[in-house]
Amino acid sequence: MSLEDDKKHIWHPLTQHQLHPNHLLIKKAKGALLYDDNGNEYIDAIASWYTCMYGHCNPYITSMVSKQMQNLDHVVFTGFTHEPAINLAKSLIQILPQNQDKLFFSDNGSTSVDVAIKMALQYHYNKGDKRSKIIAFEDGFHGDTFGAMSVSDLSIYNGPFEDFFLDVERIPVPNENNLEAIKKRFLDLTSKNKIAAFIYEPLVQGAAAMKMHKSEHLDSLLRIAKENQIITIADEVMTGFGKTGKNFASEHMSQLPDIMCLSKSLTGGLVPMAITSCNKEIYNAFLSSKMEKGFFHGHTYSANPTSCTAALASLQLLLSVDIQKNIKMVITSHQEFNAKIKNHPKVKSTRQQGVIFALDLNIETDRYGDLRYKLFDFFMGKGIYLRPLGNTIYILAPFIVSKAQLQKIYTVIEESFDII
Ligand SMILES: *Cc1c(COP(=O)(O)O)cnc(C)c1O
Repeated sequence: MSLEDDKKHIWHPLTQHQLHPNHLLIKKAKGALLYDDNGNEYIDAIASWYTCMYGHCNPYITSMVSKQMQNLDHVVFTGFTHEPAINLAKSLIQILPQNQDKLFFSDNGSTSVDVAIKMALQYHYNKGDKRSKIIAFEDGFHGDTFGAMSVSDLSIYNGPFEDFFLDVERIPVPNENNLEAIKKRFLDLTSKNKIAAFIYEPLVQGAAAMKMHKSEHLDSLLRIAKENQIITIADEVMTGFGKTGKNFASEHMSQLPDIMCLSKSLTGGLVPMAITSCNKEIYNAFLSSKMEKGFFHGHTYSANPTSCTAALASLQLLLSVDIQKNIKMVITSHQEFNAKIKNHPKVKSTRQQGVIFALDLNIETDRYGDLRYKLFDFFMGKGIYLRPLGNTIYILAPFIVSKAQLQKIYTVIEESFDII
């Protein structure tokens, strides 16, 4: 094995290989730490894209999965069912917003979004009401498959595909100043078009560098959607499972979503899986004596038993006293860090929602401008894995991060103010 073989054979995601041919070899990971092949360690301050929230190689999750995989590895999920899926479904439904009633399994965040969009379109179609337009937020990100890419706005690299996208109307994210105008636009769109669905990342737009909006603002848009029979789709692929201070970001609103998308930390980062959940009304619209009214969507690895086991173990950890205590510790620590740095001349603004903390530096730059590479290298050199975007530095560490590790992250971020 050598890194030359990586260069020879592997095409990495989201990478311009001519500009960035080198990749760091990670040998192992444990808890909040990553280790490279030179023995350097890094605090994983973004939980490997918000997946490993209970720590890397969590011993409880790995032991449950290891037991499961010796008993039932995989089986077709059409015509068959199994205990790991049933146990997970029962536990997950208990903590999802109370209108959520049925779970549909797929493989990753993007497929969970594609499933949600297809459910919404077919829901109307089955009722004899053909609707084709979808409303989505500016700066939203929902994934890289065609449906998910269509509703995403972070499309600077989507040029080759734009002619093939779904029919999407984009509205700005609401704030104090534009709320009334957006409500008016939403109503206007509804009266002039056949809108099938409204998809949104509730409260925090992850890939837009943790942009945040207020729950009461989103709530008022959801109310308009409900009043006009528009299916609401909460993409909680990033926000789900405790990150916003509640189990799901949707719990911060009074209007509950019709459909929810879940992935990323669903399995604690061990194996891939996603779930699209929906309420009874959506599900019932597919019940019929006619085959074609059913939902003919399926992935080979749907509800893989080892993935379901990893998800159930993760859920049990999320609800445990220890994790809940540590979530509170992280929230308070971020608040203290915020108080300390928010008036620093290099800091333009800060924001926090639960364990998610972000700060914008007082400097103009592109999303993938030179600044982020300079900062990235600085942080890695100091043993912290952070991925700044544009002028934003954000922290979304595993729930099990220690106070000392958090302190180290904060200190290194403060030190970075001196290099810009
Ligand atoms: C990451 C993400 C996705 C896509 O998930 P993948 O597993 O990368 O396909 C979709 N929606 C949101 C909000 C995400 O953060």
